[in-house]
Amino acid sequence: MSSTVFFGSAKQRKLAAAETLPAKLDRILERLKIRERVGKKTVAIKMHLGGNIGYSTIHPVFVRKVVQAVVEGGGKPFVTDTAGACRTSPLRGYTTETIGCPIYPTAGPTDKHVKVVRRPFKNITDWQLGGTLIEADFLINFAHVKGHPSCGFGALFKNLALGGMAGPTRGAIHDTQHFDPYFFPEKVTTNGDTLQRIIDSCPHKALVRDEKDAGRLHLHFDPCNQCRRCLKVAPPGSLRIDAANFSAFIEAEAISAGLVLEHFGDGQAAFISLANLLTPVCDCFGFTGPAILPDIGVFGGDDIVATEQAMLDKVAECELIVANVPDEMEPQPGAGHPFQVLHGPLKNPYLLTEFGEKLGLGSREYELIDVMADATAAAPGHIAAKHM
Ligand code: SF4
Repeated sequence: MSSTVFFGSAKQRKLAAAETLPAKLDRILERLKIRERVGKKTVAIKMHLGGNIGYSTIHPVFVRKVVQAVVEGGGKPFVTDTAGACRTSPLRGYTTETIGCPIYPTAGPTDKHVKVVRRPFKNITDWQLGGTLIEADFLINFAHVKGHPSCGFGALFKNLALGGMAGPTRGAIHDTQHFDPYFFPEKVTTNGDTLQRIIDSCPHKALVRDEKDAGRLHLHFDPCNQCRRCLKVAPPGSLRIDAANFSAFIEAEAISAGLVLEHFGDGQAAFISLANLLTPVCDCFGFTGPAILPDIGVFGGDDIVATEQAMLDKVAECELIVANVPDEMEPQPGAGHPFQVLHGPLKNPYLLTEFGEKLGLGSREYELIDVMADATAAAPGHIAAKHM
């Protein structure tokens, strides 16, 4: 069944406040009926608050719009993210004064307020869900869209899957990529330092000797763009650059987000993603460089799969801004989606919505509704700036 996704394009038709993304976010909040739905509920607004001197996370102007809608509806909002990101968030402009509500860590200030849920997957048996996040009555998943070196991109799923879990589970999700073996030392039968030749063949320094066993190779999946140069040097069968390792992280994201969403009943979660200032890597890197894609817009829906899919489809219409890609990265034209061109063909962003749909979290079919479609005659300032 098709789900509805509301969309406000970053493109302006006029030089008017009503044509900008914060005003379009207002329209999306209205179309999602956030005010009517929150009642007197406690509302967790899950965000990625970034790190260090990054400035491409969602600007407080947008956050305040969401907070304002919840407050006007009678709800009690709080913004939430990992303990570390919350602790340093004032450095990036997020305070109770600027956004209009408190900021609480998803698993408490010591990362210990968790609910443990058993769901075996690869190396993970128990998942530690952030207690503060899942104890809220209503969830607004408010995500910034960007590239991500582990899985190609980060947005709605990743915002819950990683940021909704305590630190040990976040680490374990990253380790899923190492669960299926990719190095087979018994196949290395050549003379000389074959391992070193394989390591030296990687221009991205993705291959290193295993810390615990210098006779084994360890692959850093983040910098690996699957160029396969190493396979030309490695003895046959000794090394795999295999889809299973790369997709493990992506499937773990879908499972993790699903575990969080199980705590919110029907209609008790809304999903909003902002695709602007799209950086090549995650907001947790703690810095911001030039955008590698044009600003695209703001998306909102009640279906995490459909809302993510709609965003990915809009990104797919754009071309990577290669001139803005850092020199140490190596875009691969022809790899597929722009996030694959950036991070490699096996970091396929659409795998995430496929896994999400298989888990019953939503539908990849959607109807995209432009929230400005009924505003062709709108005068500048159609949506008045409101102050709290
Ligand atoms: S596929 Fe390319 S980037 Fe990945 S480890 Fe091999 S040489 Fe390095």
